[in-house]
Amino acid sequence: MSTPPRNSRISGFHRMSPRERLDTVAAFAGLDAAAVERLADTGNLDSGLADRLIENVVGTMNIPLGIATNMKVDGEDVLIPMATEESSVVAAVCNAARQCYDTGGFTSSLSGTLMIAQIQAVGVADPHAARLRILDRRDAIKAVCDGCDPILLGLGGGFRDVEVRVLETAGGTMLITHLIVDTRDAMGANAVNTMAEKLAPSIEEWTGGRVYLRILSNLADRRLARAHAVWQLDQIGGAAVRDGMIAAYQFAAADPYRAATHNKGIMNGISAVVLATGNDTRAVEAGAHAYAARNGSYGSLTRFEVTKEGHLSGSIELPMAVGLIGGATKLHPTAQTCLKILGVTSAERLARIIAAVGLAQNFSALKALATTGIQKGHMALHAQNIAMMAGAVGEEIERVAQKLVERGTVRIDVAQAVLGELRGA
Ligand code: NAD
Repeated sequence: MSTPPRNSRISGFHRMSPRERLDTVAAFAGLDAAAVERLADTGNLDSGLADRLIENVVGTMNIPLGIATNMKVDGEDVLIPMATEESSVVAAVCNAARQCYDTGGFTSSLSGTLMIAQIQAVGVADPHAARLRILDRRDAIKAVCDGCDPILLGLGGGFRDVEVRVLETAGGTMLITHLIVDTRDAMGANAVNTMAEKLAPSIEEWTGGRVYLRILSNLADRRLARAHAVWQLDQIGGAAVRDGMIAAYQFAAADPYRAATHNKGIMNGISAVVLATGNDTRAVEAGAHAYAARNGSYGSLTRFEVTKEGHLSGSIELPMAVGLIGGATKLHPTAQTCLKILGVTSAERLARIIAAVGLAQNFSALKALATTGIQKGHMALHAQNIAMMAGAVGEEIERVAQKLVERGTVRIDVAQAVLGELRGA
């Protein structure tokens, strides 16, 4: 008898408990008991809480949490919790921070805690006049927005400004209203989305058009985090290293193919802290990449140059929409612990530290690339991963990894051969 085809139309799946869903999935996918129990063990996140954070929860997936040391930001030492599955990311931050620690570490700033919500109106007969009609109603708009969020208002946040753009699109002229809102210690997506939705009927009334989208922009360019550091020539290994790093930066600044990888490295550090603190990695990533392309071509989020004394100066600037309130930040106990490790009590300080981490990450990547190459640093941990993939357990992992590095070939077939030799020995 042939087995019936598997059916993904599972009625009432969302109403099941996580355990019932897990059993259903296990039956569908043929998971063995060990796999089921691993998923059922939700570790440091209570399964009931996980079930409320997202839909259709069956378990959790753990990611290593490492701590970057040596960071000093605005004169204060800080330990950086980083959640990432990628090797060398934490070490890169530690190394970059160590090399500028004695000369002051990082300085940082934030342009503000303003977020932007967009309201899209189409079919407006007189868009330029309608634009002025909206701008003339600033006080009414402020009242609607602030009325949505008395808590935010009480904390000194709320509506700050309104801007209106006449946008030419493939579908004709659109009128795009921007609400600029100070969301203080919140990332602010929900806060500003609520305001945009509340204001939409008035926009229709004032413009005679039809409103479709009412949503936050992730290009949070009123919330720019900046960080700067100087690395002394003797700390980094001399002028040749400095010049190689500057050439690497210039390459990224001129070429989107290189810039994508350059900025990916920056986000290795940034996303790891954003995730560890329960913030929205996709929001920060979208903002970063859009900002990198703001001038019409995609470029570097960092800049490197030579100081008048000949040292290496690095800076970074990018949108940093992170908060201490809202989403998983407040609910996930590990995120709360990470915020405690960081010692931050404001979204501003968190954003500034994260920018410094991005710069540190980039410094280490450029230094490795301009000198020994990226693989040397990667290899030790990568070799351990390959050893495990080849089946090594316990002490075998380190021994196989060492042999792979010695042989200069970190490949799974070689790892299997080395493991066979070890076990045969
Ligand atoms: P939220 O609505 O849960 O919390 C913000 C609210 O908390 C404020 O509106 C305010 O009323 C209150 N608050 C209490 N103390 C505050 C303080 N000190 N500072 C500021 N506000 C304070 O969360 P949010 O920050 O508005 O939204 C963040 C969530 O939205 C994230 O989970 C994100 O993933 C999600 N989201 C993102 C997008 C996007 O990025 N495009 C879209 C939709 C939702």
